[in-house]
Amino acid sequence: MADLLTRQRDAFLASEIPGVGQRREKLAVLRAAILAFKTELKDAINQDFGHRSRYETDIFELSVVLQSIDYLSRRLPRFMKSERRHVHWTSKSGQAYVEYQPLGVIGIIAPWNYPVLLTLIPLATALAAGNRVMVKPSELTPVTSEVLSKMLASVFSPEEVTVVQGGPEVGAEFSHLAFDHLLFTGSTQVGHHIMRAASDNLVPVTLELGGKSPVIISKGHVNQQNVDRIVFGKLANGGQTCVAPDYALIHEDDLAEFIKQYSASVARSYPDGPLSRDYTSIINERHYQRLMGLLEQARGHGATVTEVGRQPESAARRLRTIAPTIVTGVSDELDIMQQEIFGPLLPIKTYRNLDEVIQFVNARPRPLALYYFGNRDNECDTVLRRTTSGNVGINTTVLHVAQDDLPFGGVGASGMGAYHGIEGFRAMSHAKGTFVQGRYSLPAMLRAPFGKLADMTLAYMFRR
Ligand code: NAD
Repeated sequence: MADLLTRQRDAFLASEIPGVGQRREKLAVLRAAILAFKTELKDAINQDFGHRSRYETDIFELSVVLQSIDYLSRRLPRFMKSERRHVHWTSKSGQAYVEYQPLGVIGIIAPWNYPVLLTLIPLATALAAGNRVMVKPSELTPVTSEVLSKMLASVFSPEEVTVVQGGPEVGAEFSHLAFDHLLFTGSTQVGHHIMRAASDNLVPVTLELGGKSPVIISKGHVNQQNVDRIVFGKLANGGQTCVAPDYALIHEDDLAEFIKQYSASVARSYPDGPLSRDYTSIINERHYQRLMGLLEQARGHGATVTEVGRQPESAARRLRTIAPTIVTGVSDELDIMQQEIFGPLLPIKTYRNLDEVIQFVNARPRPLALYYFGNRDNECDTVLRRTTSGNVGINTTVLHVAQDDLPFGGVGASGMGAYHGIEGFRAMSHAKGTFVQGRYSLPAMLRAPFGKLADMTLAYMFRR
């Protein structure tokens, strides 16, 4: 692994900084490779999950990656342009500007839940910023990791882009490498290890972590459209989405209506219940058992656990599927209210007034996303002003991720730094500030032996 890094760094140092044309060419090559391997990637993900809707892979992964590549390619000239900066009056004849220079070799560690999206958008961003890249995909999606590795090797040399496969031990070794930047997407727990490992070499990190993202519905705003949008974000990929609404905060007067609407919406989206074509399985037995454990504990402590939507007509069960489930009457100490759920379970808390909602959210680690359903009025403004989350969705869930011009990232326990669009380009570039001294420069005239000019200048500087 260290050898691969050395090869990439040597190749980086031996070549010119790539211009717009060369970077666009790399992005075009990546785009073409994705299209060529599209079917293989979809089959691989389906195999890794046991069952994953092909539409979900197309809509939530492949098309978002292509869109992101196109956006980066189109905006590159603007992103790469050097920026004139303000010059202090004492140096007025000089020039100040910032150039965005590639950092060198970027390390990317990816999770399993969107194995293509969360590998290839960081990769495309790193290439757009003119870097070389080493990628470590997740061991929980081995078939997809193999296809990604084959796909990237078919279009890039190992000195440009290379894939290292393996589990936590390999990840640990990878995160100790002296990259120029490391972008990690995964759990908050592993995020701690990553930051510690990176600190050995002072490697800057972007940490894209998880957490519990709340969805808040304003009193009186439980309706079909809003609930459909919540179901969309909650149940995509079987609930295994970092920005999925984790739990719902519903006004106590709206609870019964919400449960009714949620169940009806699930039935519309998944007409065959958990056997529906577009309902994705849980990634592995460990996660399946973890989710069942959350339900068992909640039941044992008096919560009401209700499977919603349709029951399948046949008695057949698909491997590792859990029916969409809502959980009410939950106490805050339960694991389902403490841990990130990452599955099709929706605990619901009721509230009486907005202050309770804000306090509830603020008493917990800062979420990756916060969703608010209601009018764009004072109440909405208050929620947004008084809470802090990585991103916010108003009358929507999840879709902010597909807005290329928005920074995507968490805050506090949900992450550090952001990527996508210009934020990603800049995270993987060095903003090199340059000053060119002009003919006249007051500071340059203030040389020892200091005298009258220095006295006059300092008197002016320190004036009241
Ligand atoms: P994970 O943290 O278990 O694993 C992520 C990656 O880290 C994998 O490639 C894994 O092999 C590697 N890894 C594991 N232990 C390591 C170690 N000690 N040192 C270095 N690398 C190590 O996460 P996961 O289960 O793959 O993914 C689910 C988590 O990711 C959830 O918490 C979810 O919210 C989060 N996530 C966040 C985003 C985001 O964009 N913020 C997106 C998707 C998922």
